[in-house]
This record gives sequence, structure tokens and C-alpha cells, in this order.
Amino acid sequence: AKEAGKNNSQFFSYDMSRSVRRRVEIRTHLRNAIRHDELSVVYQPRMVMEGNELAGAEALLRWNSAELGPVGPQEFIPVAEEAGLIVPIGEWVLREACAQAVRWRLASRRDVSVAVNISARQFRDTDIVKTVMDVLAETGLPSRLLELELTESVLMCDTARAVDTLQRLNAIGVRVALDDFGTGYSSLSYLKRFPLDCLKVDRSFVADITGEAHDEAIVRTIVALAHGLGMRVVAEGVETEEQLAMLRRLHCDEVQGYLLGRPAPPEHLLARLQDENAA
Ligand code: C2E
Ligand code: CA
Ligand code: CA
Ligand code: CA
Repeated sequence: AKEAGKNNSQFFSYDMSRSVRRRVEIRTHLRNAIRHDELSVVYQPRMVMEGNELAGAEALLRWNSAELGPVGPQEFIPVAEEAGLIVPIGEWVLREACAQAVRWRLASRRDVSVAVNISARQFRDTDIVKTVMDVLAETGLPSRLLELELTESVLMCDTARAVDTLQRLNAIGVRVALDDFGTGYSSLSYLKRFPLDCLKVDRSFVADITGEAHDEAIVRTIVALAHGLGMRVVAEGVETEEQLAMLRRLHCDEVQGYLLGRPAPPEHLLARLQDENAA
């Protein structure tokens, strides 16, 4: 047993150094990713439940590194966050997404909103309201067509400051959604203090909604809570018709997931908008 323990710890430290090395590599190459034009944004449609119409899309970052190949956001975003690189990268995504939403709007002659993920570092360490105002002015996107997605942990860190920032965003007409709702440790008493427009039900609850009775109860409760506080509810990670039917019965306002469309380059969304217009 002693021998096995020793081997385990050697294996562990080998694994550790490998993952540390990987993070260093990611940080090194990510630094030049914007300049080298290696980043792109894909868009996942968000559908209105009633009428099955496109409400807009969520902007999701992709990185195809010349040295490392494609690296997923689950892997490189935490590194970017730690290194502070998420600030310039996040601003780049915001600008890209807003410019894209303007193009969709011009080409389809209807309003399409765009949702952009904002990291903790961007929300806490920068003047996000000023950045947003600058980008809206530069791109010409009406503020009501932009939604920012924040996670619970971002808001819970310094709640007084978070309330202030959310109020300023609200004042300029930008909407805010609480992402991955139900997975964090949000205190319900804070929820009413935050001027939020939307709760996004985490996909872990959606995944078992047709099987586990408890998950149905959880989603039902989240919907009641959100509607009671005047917020819309978006369910993410919808993969099956059964899940969609259940979410409709539970009065979810919007849905997003592979069933409704995978994240795709902006031309795909434009084609869908034009199909909807023609129909
Ligand atoms: P998220 O904000 O919760 O985004 C939803 C994730 O779920 C996306 O993964 C999306 O591709 C995936 N997804 C959508 N529908 C389905 C479905 O039906 N089934 C399953 N299994 N997955 C689905 P992605 O694109 O890999 O992004 C992962 C995470 O990386 C995001 O989670 C977000 O936290 C972060 N992220 C992505 N882009 C950005 C960005 O521009 N800025 C920041 N700060 N974070 C980002
Ligand atoms: Ca999100
Ligand atoms: Ca989410
Ligand atoms: Ca997430």
C-alpha cells in the first residue's frame, strides 16, 4: 500500500506540472491572440417560447490558436481571467457582438438582441458602464438590444457596488441576465435588490427536467420567483423536444440549446432571420 501511495503522489505531481505547463502555454499564446486574429465569436440563437421566434443570440468566444489548435472557453477563459487578459479580450467580444447585432438589424430590418458574457474581472476591476456606453456609441447599437450575462458569484462579491453598477446599466437601458442561475450561492434576499431583467436557468436543471421530479419542481420555483420579481426566464441547454414541452408548460419565456440551434458563425443567424422574414 505504501508503494502504491508513493506511485500515486509521483503520478499526481507529474499531472500537476503538466497542467501548470498547459496553463502557461495558454497564457503565453493568448496574449497575442487578438493581434494574430485567432479569436472569433459564434452566436447561439435564443428563441421566444410563444411564437417560436428568434429573440436574439448569445455571443460565445472561440479561439483557434496557431500553436495550440482550437482551445475551448472552459479551458482558456479561467486562464485569461487570472492573467487579466480577459479585460481586453472581453472588450473585444463586446465590440464584435454589438457591431454584429447592428449588421443583423440592418440586413433583416428587425430588432435582434445580443447577449454578451461579462467576467468577474471586467465587472469588478473596470468601469464596465463606461466601456459599454463607448461601444454602443461606436457601433450604433440601441442599448435595449444589448444584454449582459453575469454569474451569481460576480454579483455576490461586493453587493453594494454591484447594485450601483446594475442601476447605472439599467439607467442607460442595457439589460442584465443572471447566468447559470441555481448553481451558485446567491442569497434570495439580494435578488430583489439587484435590478435584473432575466434569470437563465442553468442547463444542469434542464437536463433532468423530464426525469427527476425534483428538477421540475426547481425550475417551476425559479420561474415563479423570476416572474414574481418581474424578470424573464431563459432556459439553457435545451436538447430534446420533451424538455422543450415541459419548459413550455412551466411558462419559461425563452429557450436556448442545441435543439434550437448550436453556436454558429454570424451568417447562420442572418440566414435564419431572413427565413423568418420570408415565412
Ligand atoms: P455559458 O455562458 O453558460 O454558455 C453556455 C454554454 O453551453 C456554451 O458553451 C454553449 O455552447 C453550451 N451549450 C449551449 N446549448 C447547449 C446544449 O443544448 N447542451 C450542452 N451540453 N451545451 C450547450 P461554450 O461556448 O463552450 O462556453 C462555455 C463557457 O465559457 C460559457 O458558459 C461562459 O461561461 C464562457 N464564455 C464563453 N464565451 C465567453 C466570453 O466571451 N466571455 C466570458 N467572460 N466568458 C465566456
Ligand atoms: Ca452565458
Ligand atoms: Ca449559462
Ligand atoms: Ca457557465
